[in-house]
Amino acid sequence: VALGENKMQVYSHDIAVPAIRQFKLEVGLARALETGAELWLAYQPKVCLQTGRLHSVEALCRWSSPDLGNIGPDEFIAAAESSDLIIPLGLWVLEETCRQLAGWKAQGLHVPAVAVNLSSKQLLDPDFPDKARLCAARHGLPTSLLEFELTETAIMSNPDSALAMLHGIKQAGFKLALDDFGTGYSNIRYLKNLPVDYLKIDKTFIEGLGRDSDSADLCRAIFLLGNALDLDMLVEGVETEAQRVELCRMGFRLGQGYLFSHPVSAAQFAQRWLGEDAP
Ligand code: C2E
Ligand code: CA
Ligand code: CA
Ligand code: CA
Repeated sequence: VALGENKMQVYSHDIAVPAIRQFKLEVGLARALETGAELWLAYQPKVCLQTGRLHSVEALCRWSSPDLGNIGPDEFIAAAESSDLIIPLGLWVLEETCRQLAGWKAQGLHVPAVAVNLSSKQLLDPDFPDKARLCAARHGLPTSLLEFELTETAIMSNPDSALAMLHGIKQAGFKLALDDFGTGYSNIRYLKNLPVDYLKIDKTFIEGLGRDSDSADLCRAIFLLGNALDLDMLVEGVETEAQRVELCRMGFRLGQGYLFSHPVSAAQFAQRWLGEDAP
């Protein structure tokens, strides 16, 4: 053809690389789920902005693959979502979270509520609230010790079934948070009807705090909106003391970010936040 062989090759190469990568990720993830050996959870505290004391904690999935190296969750969760692996992966995260909580309890530690992230596909499984309830029960945990974080985008991709699912999750006694708040499009009226306990304000709003006045105006506006909706709020991505001070001044109560702790292993988290010398 007129394009010539070389050009053809360039195109197929461009298309093939992501497809091969996706294939490798899927094969690798499927195997990791079978053995359970390469997956683990990192824990990042949610704290009181005023005192720095532990409020609860978020579990974040990690994958150390011997073949593919350390792949960030942004990449492997996306790969899992575009296949159906997110369903077993999501269940693995929940199971592992409950196992860890039960382990801390057995050690006599005072355990905080743990939040798990959910993706939109998990919202399509009508049995999810039941599965989650049974998982907690199997580990001897009250459902009130578990929270689920969902993005607006995940909810809006299927608003009707999502709403029913969220009610099911709440009825089972779990807490709900709206993740990455402010980054997706959502109708304020629709938001008002969501049975969520609190909003997690996306870190992009906090980035410019202390540097430009627009960021401060936006944060104040979000605070007013959250209050008007009668929802609690937590600010994500707090990295500096200056940001912490400013957020406190605005009235925010809870935060999460590198200033307090990066996501760390279960052992490190227990030592630093659940131990006797915990703040
Ligand atoms: P997310 O749920 O919004 O999690 C917050 C992300 O921000 C985490 O990235 C966390 O490490 C990072 N972070 C925390 N504090 C700071 C900070 O002060 N500054 C900055 N720049 N970043 C901060 P991570 O762990 O790479 O996770 C990325 C995303 O992957 C998560 O975003 C979540 O959407 C997804 N994810 C992680 N684990 C799971 C999981 O088990 N299930 C599902 N469905 N998604 C997950
Ligand atoms: Ca989250
Ligand atoms: Ca978030
Ligand atoms: Ca995010």
